[in-house]
Amino acid sequence: NLTSGIVGLANVGKSTFFQAITRSKLGNPANYPFATIKPEEARVLVPNSRLDHLVDLYHADRKIPAVLKIFDIAGLVRGASDNKGLGNAFLADIRAVDGIFQVVRSFKDPEITHIEGSVDPVRDLTIVQDELLLKDMEFIENELERIRKQMKNRGGKTAQDFADMDEEIATLEEAYDILIGGQRIINKPDWTDNQIDILNRNHFLSTKPSVFLANISEEDYLNGTIPSLSGIEDWVSEFAPGSPVIPISAAYESKYADEHPSAIEGKSALPEIITEMRKTLHLISYFTCGPLECRQWTIRENTLCPQAAGVIHTDFEKTFINAELIKYDDVAGLKPPYEEKILRSKGKIHRVGKSYVVQDSDILTFHSAA
Ligand code: GDP
Repeated sequence: NLTSGIVGLANVGKSTFFQAITRSKLGNPANYPFATIKPEEARVLVPNSRLDHLVDLYHADRKIPAVLKIFDIAGLVRGASDNKGLGNAFLADIRAVDGIFQVVRSFKDPEITHIEGSVDPVRDLTIVQDELLLKDMEFIENELERIRKQMKNRGGKTAQDFADMDEEIATLEEAYDILIGGQRIINKPDWTDNQIDILNRNHFLSTKPSVFLANISEEDYLNGTIPSLSGIEDWVSEFAPGSPVIPISAAYESKYADEHPSAIEGKSALPEIITEMRKTLHLISYFTCGPLECRQWTIRENTLCPQAAGVIHTDFEKTFINAELIKYDDVAGLKPPYEEKILRSKGKIHRVGKSYVVQDSDILTFHSAA
């Protein structure tokens, strides 16, 4: 199950956003830096109108939506990679998550201290990025030292082992040069598959898939007079191309969460934020449906049917025989009362095997040997 973390400088609205998104009193918003020290974990329900429709259609007793795990990570400061502020602890927390929500402060409020003294989202993006790049450089230095030490010990190693280590060193050195240039490793377009494997193994901080959240004032947010985000967008298209930039008002979201505890809808940006993070992490869903429950399961894009079954129970992957598949589009327009046998008679229930790549919103029933 993939996780995401909320990252940004201190006092930009991370905890306020976290509280809103979890509707809980986790997190710790307060008007002073470092109010948030321990990462807090929350599980957020993924809004999905298709699941709602399926619950209706199948008359299911229970609806079980997918969840996105979110950590509230303490604020970053200039010099964090040097262990200033809370330093390395939260850099380690960032390493542990798969995706990053990066909150940048775009609201002006003289009452709320800005740790850098003024509101300047592009400068803040650069501060955070520099800390991540510096930490990755330090990490590569340590890795290179470790591999070189390993190479000195020749015992029990084949020529292939040495060739592999040589390639690892060359790849990491190349990555290091890119980081020195202030760029992200993933921005180099022509890494080979093997190099990408090497880089992925290292879980670099600066290559984490990111969704950028521009925290604007509640007034601007509600009036739709969204201040120009072009500075942020330009920066993102240069340093993290393809990453979404979403305007939010953390203050509004937390108020909205209190007033509408059960529904995330209307003016709230949360559904879009959750959906964008799932897309950024290349996550999709399939459904299992019946009268007892309709459930949304999370898988990565390009997952084969047996591995998708394995998400329900690891045994299902090993004992997988085949699956029955209903395409969501074939039931999207139907209303209860609904019976699968009508779909069957129309040839809308398909049998798929081990080589089927599960698509988003597929409705699946697995058959296993167990
Ligand atoms: P964190 O350090 O990034 O977690 O920031 P917090 O969420 O603790 O927020 C720091 C302070 O800024 C708190 O006093 C919040 O109430 C305030 N704050 C957060 N978001 C907004 C906002 O959108 N507008 C205004 N005016 N204040 C905000």
